[in-house]
Amino acid sequence: MPVMMKAAVFVEPGRIELADKPLPDVGPNDALMRITTTTICGTDIHILKGEYPVAKGLTVGHEPVGIIEKLGSAVAGYREGQRVIAGAICPNFNSYAAMDGNPSQDGSYLIPKGLCGPHGYKATAGWRFGNLIDGTQAEYVLVPDAQANLAPIPDGLTDEQVLMCPDIMSTGFKGAENANIKIGDTVAVFAQGPIGLCATAGARLLGATTIIVVDGNDQRLAVARRMGADVTLNFKQCDVVDEIMKLTGGRGVDASIEALGTQATFESSLRVLKPGGTLSSLGVYSSDLSIPLSAFAAGLGDHKIYTALCPGGKERMRRLMNVLASGRLDLGTLVTHHYKLDDIVAAYELFANQRDGVLKVAIKPN
Ligand SMILES: [Zn+2]
Repeated sequence: MPVMMKAAVFVEPGRIELADKPLPDVGPNDALMRITTTTICGTDIHILKGEYPVAKGLTVGHEPVGIIEKLGSAVAGYREGQRVIAGAICPNFNSYAAMDGNPSQDGSYLIPKGLCGPHGYKATAGWRFGNLIDGTQAEYVLVPDAQANLAPIPDGLTDEQVLMCPDIMSTGFKGAENANIKIGDTVAVFAQGPIGLCATAGARLLGATTIIVVDGNDQRLAVARRMGADVTLNFKQCDVVDEIMKLTGGRGVDASIEALGTQATFESSLRVLKPGGTLSSLGVYSSDLSIPLSAFAAGLGDHKIYTALCPGGKERMRRLMNVLASGRLDLGTLVTHHYKLDDIVAAYELFANQRDGVLKVAIKPN
């Protein structure tokens, strides 16, 4: 096994570059995964721009597909050489937060060693790869709490097919799950980037029969139709709130899913929602939100508003890969570009500027 590896690290705002790093030591509960394919997320672009702070020198990326190189002594039921993924969010499932049903909000490992943590809750701290610990845009990544976080890939699924499971598909589906969709519902999805597209696919699988999607990019709207959208609206060409209220006969949608993280998308999601409906928010916001009083029915509308961080863990990953293995959905089609890890700076440039119709970029170390 080599002692050094190549890794994409955050240097300073505007700079993510390749560097040589030592391979990490494998503790009893860890697994070392050799990355065969990873990708760049919209969140990585926030990190690149300095809008989401991470430590200088941290390896970025949180979407791993690969092979188990080395298992920690306490990890059982897996074998070295096995193809696996791990969720982008890889909590310690022994924590208070996990046992309370909120593993993505688990910060139990941030408590200094030797102290008994009173509760271990910390918002978003289940997200460790490329946030709190070295991430996946590298030749190898250390998976913590591997027993709970490694998920074997079913035979017959390619790296590209499962590449969306760790984050994009898990997050997008969570958006649909949080929307409390019932068979026959009308659902609006605001923004059709990769996560919004997965929310659309999830809404379809959950039984929504009228799915109205909104984006400013006609190419993405065309992909949305393949993912299950019934009506596509380009916000550059119409007033989407008016249009959706017309389409629903003034009733509003049963559920709306926000998949971008801006005031405009959040506000529109609320404005098109029926009284008693559910707003499921997925976006990462970077400024305060204001809630329009009329759309909020002055606080008396029985609206339900949910937020979410991507769910992780091997059971979540198993379910998502089952969806793909069943043939009900193919997300390999979201991979529009391929790059070598050596060329990751160019991949960032393409992805950050959304050039050439890019949806997702597959990055391969070899
Ligand atoms: Zn992500």
